[in-house]
Amino acid sequence: LFLTFEGIDGSGKSTQARRLAESLEAAGYDVVLTREPGGSPGAEEIRRLVLEGDPDRWSAETEILLFTAARRDHLERTIEPALNAGKIVICDRFADSTRMYQGLSRGDLRALVDQLHGLMIGREPDLTLLIDMDPEIGLSRAKGRQGTEERFEDFGPALQKRMRSGFLALADEFKNRFRVIDGNRDVDSVAVDVRETVLKVLR
Ligand code: C5P
Repeated sequence: LFLTFEGIDGSGKSTQARRLAESLEAAGYDVVLTREPGGSPGAEEIRRLVLEGDPDRWSAETEILLFTAARRDHLERTIEPALNAGKIVICDRFADSTRMYQGLSRGDLRALVDQLHGLMIGREPDLTLLIDMDPEIGLSRAKGRQGTEERFEDFGPALQKRMRSGFLALADEFKNRFRVIDGNRDVDSVAVDVRETVLKVLR
């Protein structure tokens, strides 16, 4: 089973991905927890190229190519081997993040993102959990743990709002695999909701 978490910055995806991995492992499942951009040695190097340093280093199109290259490596080296071994793969962000961030934040490049995805990736998750959250809360949480590679200069409240509605529209577009989780609650309540949603699919 290939499971992804999506949502705006500060939505709590990473915490929820980790909590879910722990609870599935405790229930006896074999789990691989991974993330994007990154998730394999090569893709982690590309992550640094894209997220560190001058945000204008790459054009929007080159950035899409780099994210796609990273994803392809991650898929070949980490995700597919784990799925072939019968493991559950939990990935913090995947192609839906590229549809949103690279597809919407620097002009309308969604068609290009989808073309490259079709050519080089061609795989969608079995289940995607969208942790939906008020952008104001997300932004203040994300700013609280701001690190060197975060890109909040360009990610003000207006863009966060667009990203949130973009993710909700994506959930509607891919209804079959998306479940929207209300992330405006305490971490434990969200974790229970996430676990029950996934267990329902696993049964
Ligand atoms: O999810 P995580 O916090 O690791 O993402 C790191 C940074 O990369 C965030 O600022 C996120 O918004 C950005 N990002 C992006 N395009 C993606 C995935 C993440 O700009 N496809």
